[in-house]
Order: sequence, then structure tokens, then C-alpha cells
Amino acid sequence: MQPVRPGDRGPVVADVRSKLTLLGLLPDQVCDEYDDAVDRAVRGFQQLRALTVDGIVGAETYRALEEARWRLGDRVLSFMVSHPLIGDDVSALQQRLLDMGFDCGRRDGIFGARTEAALREFQRNVGLSGDGTCGPRTLEMLARLARTVTGGRPEALRENERLLGGSRTPRGKLVIVDPGHGGQDLGVVAHGMREVDLTYDLATRIEGRLAAAGVEAFLTRGPDGDVDDLDRATFANAAEADLVISVHVDGHRNPECHGIAAFYYGVPDGTYSPSGERLAELVHAELVARTGLLGCRAHPRTWDLLRRTRMPTVRVEVGYLTNPGDAERLAESELRDAVADGVVAAVQRFYAAEQQEPAA
Ligand SMILES: [Zn+2]
Repeated sequence: MQPVRPGDRGPVVADVRSKLTLLGLLPDQVCDEYDDAVDRAVRGFQQLRALTVDGIVGAETYRALEEARWRLGDRVLSFMVSHPLIGDDVSALQQRLLDMGFDCGRRDGIFGARTEAALREFQRNVGLSGDGTCGPRTLEMLARLARTVTGGRPEALRENERLLGGSRTPRGKLVIVDPGHGGQDLGVVAHGMREVDLTYDLATRIEGRLAAAGVEAFLTRGPDGDVDDLDRATFANAAEADLVISVHVDGHRNPECHGIAAFYYGVPDGTYSPSGERLAELVHAELVARTGLLGCRAHPRTWDLLRRTRMPTVRVEVGYLTNPGDAERLAESELRDAVADGVVAAVQRFYAAEQQEPAA
């Protein structure tokens, strides 16, 4: 879709307005103008959903608006291999299953194979047929059963158990290294450099070092490849990768903005990927220590690549190309080597941790 932004008008804006109204974020009013009230409502919604807060409705924000309107019981839920159902109703179902101890993986709002398996198990446990479809009878049963497990984070525990599997080194693991942007999408362009080239350069340096450490590493695109984030996630899932490291360089209108930040899957209400958070914190710490660039910490986001990948995924923004100081450093190949060394060290520390407490 064509993004809509403040000042725009037309049927897409009217549609966005009605979605915001349904969510209780905008007063009901027949209008097709993207005015200040819409801008505020969109920003509030983006904040709530851990999306980039820019007040512009692009494909990702539009999809999130679409997903947010579903309440559990609005439609029959089942696993559709080619077009999985996605929405807040699926998320609510997953939370109920997790609360009752049925392992559907992390609560990501996507009705996949693991959600189906957990639902079947729940159905069999309560004497239903176990068809893996959440229809009226299953909903009735879910409503009747009070929350039987509260507190703790069974999904966080399980994620850590699966991940560790006794291994203390990344040797033999499969890591996808994802150079951000590509093709027509150049990313940030400033100070005579393009993000699309920098991310590819950094990714190949990381790839080489991972291979030297005995890790199988793949890139999601070639030097001119044009792939969107959904395809990158699909690729990582199909390859059954152990980790995904997505490399970006940031940009901002304000040239003063500078520093390194890392991102993992999560929303502010507490649903998140504990292992993603851990990996993001390690990548952030290693990069800041090795480059001397400002540390802007690790943060949860719901971007497609973070959310759709089934393994711990981290997106790192290696400095701001729009900041003269960061740009000067990014131009140095020593700095880019240090970044690659830092990422590999973080992956090693991620697997080497003697004892890993599930983040609570
Ligand atoms: Zn980028």
C-alpha cells in the first residue's frame, strides 16, 4: 500500500480513521482527512504496539491496525498453512493456552503449527474432539475454565530450555546475517554513503568471522538483492536458523542523534522474546565496548522481521549515518571490523553463558 500521512485525504485515510475509531482511539466522525487528531491517534497506537512512532500509516502500521480489531470469538480460528490467521484474537487464545500450561511457543498473535498443536492438546484434555479449530465449543470451554496457572513465565522457561539444549558454543549453529534494505531501497543516505552498502559490507564481515568460528552463516541478500522483511523472516524460518542478526545503520532529521541501539521482539505489555532480549543486550554491549560509539541500549519492537522469525532475532542499528561523528567512524574499515568482531563475540557469549536464568 501507499503510505498515508498528515495532510492526506481519501478512502484509505477514511479506512484508517474508522479502524482507529473502532479501537477507541479516535472520536467517531465521517471524514477522510488525515488531520492532527489522526496523527496523534496513530502515534499513540504505534507507541502501544511498539512500532516505529512516526505518525505515518505504512504497510506495517496498517497491518497492525487490521490485527488489533479482532477479539477472541469474532471468528473461527484454525491453522491455515499458506495464510496463517493473525490478530489480537489469536494472541488472546495463545495467552489462555500458555496460562493453562499448553505450550504454543511465544505469544505472537500468529496461528501457526505450534498454536494448533497446543490447542489440540487442550481440547483433548477437556474432552473435546481435538480438531485444532477454535470454534464456539472450544471458546465456551475456555471461558468456563478459570486461569489455572498464574505468575511466572512458562513460555520464557521453555524458550531458554529449547535454546540451550546442552550446547555451550555456537559451533555448528546456523546464523542468518541480514544486511538491511537492498535493491531500490537504499535506506539512509548521508555524508556520501548509503546504508544499503554499509549493511552489506558489515554483514559480509560478520559472515566471514562466524564461518571462521565454525558457525554456518548465510546472508539474506546479495549486494543488489531486493527482499522485503517478510521474505527475510520466511527464509530464516525455512532454513530453521538458530539466530538471526539484522544489520542496519540509523538516520534522523536531527544530526545530533548518534549511537548504537539493538532491538528484539516484544511489546510493552510484557510479551517478549527473552532470548531475543538477551542476545540484543549482548550485541549492544559488545559493539559499544569495541567501537566507543554511544550506547542507546536494547529495546523491544514488533517489526515484522523480529516478530515473524521463530528464533531469537536481533536488529542492530550501528550508529547514525546522519551524524557527522558516527558517519566518519562508519567510513573506517577498522570500525566495521570492530563491529563484526563484536557481533561474533556476542553470539559466542550468548551460547557460552554458564548459567542462564530465564528473564522474569
Ligand atoms: Zn535501516
